[in-house]
Amino acid sequence: MSEAPMKLVVVGAAGRMGQTLIRTIAAMDGVMLHAAVERSGSPFVGKDAGEIAGLGPTGVIIGDDPLAAFLHGEGVLDFTSPAATVNFAGLAAQARIVHVVGTTGCSVEEEEKIKAAGRHARVVKSGNMSLGVNLLGVLTEQAARALPGNDWDIEILEMHHKHKVDAPSGTALLLGEAAARGRGIDLANHSVRSRDGHTGARPKGAIGFATLRGGSVIGEHSVLIAGEGEIVTLSHSAGDRSIFARGAISAALWARDKKPGFYSMLDVLGLTR
Ligand code: NAD
Repeated sequence: MSEAPMKLVVVGAAGRMGQTLIRTIAAMDGVMLHAAVERSGSPFVGKDAGEIAGLGPTGVIIGDDPLAAFLHGEGVLDFTSPAATVNFAGLAAQARIVHVVGTTGCSVEEEEKIKAAGRHARVVKSGNMSLGVNLLGVLTEQAARALPGNDWDIEILEMHHKHKVDAPSGTALLLGEAAARGRGIDLANHSVRSRDGHTGARPKGAIGFATLRGGSVIGEHSVLIAGEGEIVTLSHSAGDRSIFARGAISAALWARDKKPGFYSMLDVLGLTR
């Protein structure tokens, strides 16, 4: 295929995922780093993106004007914060390009605004961009369907590094949604997000969440389905952030020739039924 490399913009370029994206773009075929953006006032604005990511100079200088970067780019890779992502979604729609969103912790209103950008942009959003977690979601849905809520209790346990600001993780919620789909219930009305004190017995059919934070853990997730005398455990361990970066870049390449719309990693990976 002789198509020119896809021109990608990394927003949040100096963050943990931003740096990983810059290194992964350099290592993958079919893509190039077109621009790198940080928030205004960041000490990294004006620095070479490659040097920040530990690659050595690339000639791409980190800027703070996202629209200028988007207008000449083809896709945005966005692992930042909910407020920043809502703003980027509007700009990606103006520029009519691909917007890959990995940011987690969005409210229902923020989610709606990002979805609305899909009228003009090609938005791919997922709480986890790795192949393994998306497969785990499919397996969770199947298991939840096969093991009925009258007899089997679903608990989702996750652990992340101490800097993470949202809980439960986007991945835990993705797995909870998958379990709720399998059970044919609405997650918002059937979840227990925390427990403390005299909580009473576990509500039948509920999907429970438990959150651990500490150290440098990249992401550990387990779905425990507990019945009388047995527990089925499905789990995923992230050993390296590059699994998310490779997924995000594959999503951008997949969306390059798609119609405007709001897509998930299940669409990208062909895991939809
Ligand atoms: P981080 O704090 O290390 O990086 C975020 C970066 O975004 C920072 O450098 C910050 O300065 C920058 N930023 C914030 N507002 C900005 C703005 N308006 N313009 C430009 N840059 C801005 O965080 P992280 O660990 O890289 O995670 C970022 C997000 O990605 C979190 O929501 C996290 O949960 C999520 N995440 C998702 C996946 C996935 O697969 N979906 C994987 C890992 C992390």
